[in-house]
Amino acid sequence: MNLPGSVKIREVGPRDGFQSLERLIPLAEKIEIIEALIGAGVPEVEATSFASAKALPQFQDADQVLTRVSGTNTLLSAMVFNETGARRALSAGAGRLVTVVSATDAHSRANMKRGIDAALKNLDAIFQAAREYHAPVTGAVAVAFGCPFQGDVPERDVFRIARALVSKGAGAVILADTVGTAVPDRVEKRVNAFRDRFVETELILHFHNNRGTALANLLAALLAGATVFDTALGGLGGCPYVPRAAGNIPTEDAVFMLEEMGVETGIDLDALIAAARRLESIVGHPLPGQVMKSGPKIIGPRL
Ligand code: ZN
Repeated sequence: MNLPGSVKIREVGPRDGFQSLERLIPLAEKIEIIEALIGAGVPEVEATSFASAKALPQFQDADQVLTRVSGTNTLLSAMVFNETGARRALSAGAGRLVTVVSATDAHSRANMKRGIDAALKNLDAIFQAAREYHAPVTGAVAVAFGCPFQGDVPERDVFRIARALVSKGAGAVILADTVGTAVPDRVEKRVNAFRDRFVETELILHFHNNRGTALANLLAALLAGATVFDTALGGLGGCPYVPRAAGNIPTEDAVFMLEEMGVETGIDLDALIAAARRLESIVGHPLPGQVMKSGPKIIGPRL
């Protein structure tokens, strides 16, 4: 297999995972999980979301999450939806902002209560705030592989959003399979097309596992040259606006597979498994991760 020597994992569980939970997770436990991820060597954690507390009460403590997590080499990023959220995130110390636009008007209206054009215009103030703080911005394209209202999403619609994000100043673009309908051959094609068009832009793949294809999609993207992936500890997650949504690829499952293939992640798998098991006890229901159940190849005294 034509594999890269290393990849970067972006842990999104504290944002994408926690946002799927109705029960509010106490601040101390969120910080415990984020610090466990940092301790395991995860290079970037999407730590929280500055969605309105009315829309997502889970994140009413977003500012404290960022200010209380202790000093680290790990980049802490935050999802933001408007200028107010962006400025709150930046003043609380977010090292990177992540913002999102849907590739289809129908999903944008259902999810963000505005169409694509209005959503893109709304980003200007976010990018302006980030420039003032010299903070990088990552732009996510939601439903980049399929939309629950429209079905297939044409490449040109996805790249129109990606182009707009890059022209506003995004240094990285996430192609998100928000509803988990992507399959490996389509992923390979879209990764190749992205890399042909956006030579300077970092590409991040974000796969949900609704139909069991997420890890296969990661492998397809990896073989097509992608080297940055979003994953969530234990596979916790789901979109609150997608019925029966599933989480991202479990971080420890991705790390196990990658490291076994000789692709370095810089992450301590044993520490990750311990963190996933702790997360399971915090959320109080079984998580979908497999490696957290089966353990690593050699089960040492820490597990
Ligand atoms: Zn997601």
